[in-house]
Amino acid sequence: MADNNDERKIENLIIVGGGPAGYTAALYAARAELDPLVIEGFAWGGRLQNTTDVENYPGYPEGIMGPEMMQEFRAQAERFGTRFVTDDATEVELTDGGIHTVRVGKATYHARAVILSMGAEPKRLGIAGEQELQGKGVSTCGVCDGAFFKGEDVVVIGGGDSAMEDSIFVSKYADHLTIAHRRDEFRASKIMEDRARQQANIDFLTPYRPVEFVAGGDGKIEKVVFEHAETGERRELDVGGAFVAIGHIPRSELVRGQIDVDDAGYVVTDEPSTKTNLAGVFAVGDLVDHTYRQAVTAAGSGCKGALDAEWYLRDTPPSPEAHWYGRAGEVQPEPHAAVEAGSS
Ligand code: NAP
Repeated sequence: MADNNDERKIENLIIVGGGPAGYTAALYAARAELDPLVIEGFAWGGRLQNTTDVENYPGYPEGIMGPEMMQEFRAQAERFGTRFVTDDATEVELTDGGIHTVRVGKATYHARAVILSMGAEPKRLGIAGEQELQGKGVSTCGVCDGAFFKGEDVVVIGGGDSAMEDSIFVSKYADHLTIAHRRDEFRASKIMEDRARQQANIDFLTPYRPVEFVAGGDGKIEKVVFEHAETGERRELDVGGAFVAIGHIPRSELVRGQIDVDDAGYVVTDEPSTKTNLAGVFAVGDLVDHTYRQAVTAAGSGCKGALDAEWYLRDTPPSPEAHWYGRAGEVQPEPHAAVEAGSS
């Protein structure tokens, strides 16, 4: 698809990543008449594409399915002229205040401003049954899915703040919750660990590492097999749900080495703005967020990114080398050959 684009054209704004942050940035940028181009990824929609009911996004009192919500986000951005490339960005070359380049396979796109919104992936255990039972009792988001486990016995795997926070939240719904961790010491802050320990229906299983998620006759999770980290002794927990809370990996691999990232790989921004250390490059959503990682916080962050980009484009004269390619910021009269209009 995207192999015959006009390489001389310079976009105002390219948004890399099509989740709630990227689509919200596109909506705001399109309404500001920046004619944004979204490289939304082959699996557009981000992590919500793998989510079922979303009950905590304001404005949907009955809840909405994750993929349907992303379809609506996308359609709303498209309504105001956003264009989409439904494929993965393969290379990004960022400058400090100049023209930035994004490649999608053989196609090359240039822009005066870029919003990075590639998100973060929950870390996986990589054990048997984990992938197959995702959405069938195995979850990577306690805050999103905890309410579906009312009255169940559940396990939360992990020993960091996320595991403690998920446990405290999910224990409001679950009948009984076990926090299983591979070491006796916890990485979580003392205060979070103490809060979890204070819950009457939470107990701890250490040092045990999970080895398998096992399905019952109905195809949903029935038990988790653990192994003692030192003795290798096996133990099984009968559960109606299992939460994997072992951290996240920000999807910053395309820009590492070009832009400031922190020790964990999250893109560093000049908070409360979305500015990175490179002029004209902004970062939003889970790519910058250690803590909240909700659709609504990602959307809010995307809005900030679009406003920051709009102000940057308004206040920054085009790069001197722009004439090599065309006229920076000018909207070309003919349709962009490489861009697939969304079908939503
Ligand atoms: P984290 O601090 O990296 O903790 C990950 C936990 O998962 C660790 O206990 C680790 O065990 C365990 N783990 C990792 N890989 C594993 C594997 N393959 N099998 C079994 N266990 C595994 O990640 P996080 O809890 O998501 O926190 C990330 C950051 O966000 C932290 O800075 C945290 O403070 C912050 N955060 C803050 C809050 C809050 O303040 N409310 C809430 C959530 C997150 P080991 O300890 O043995 O390595």
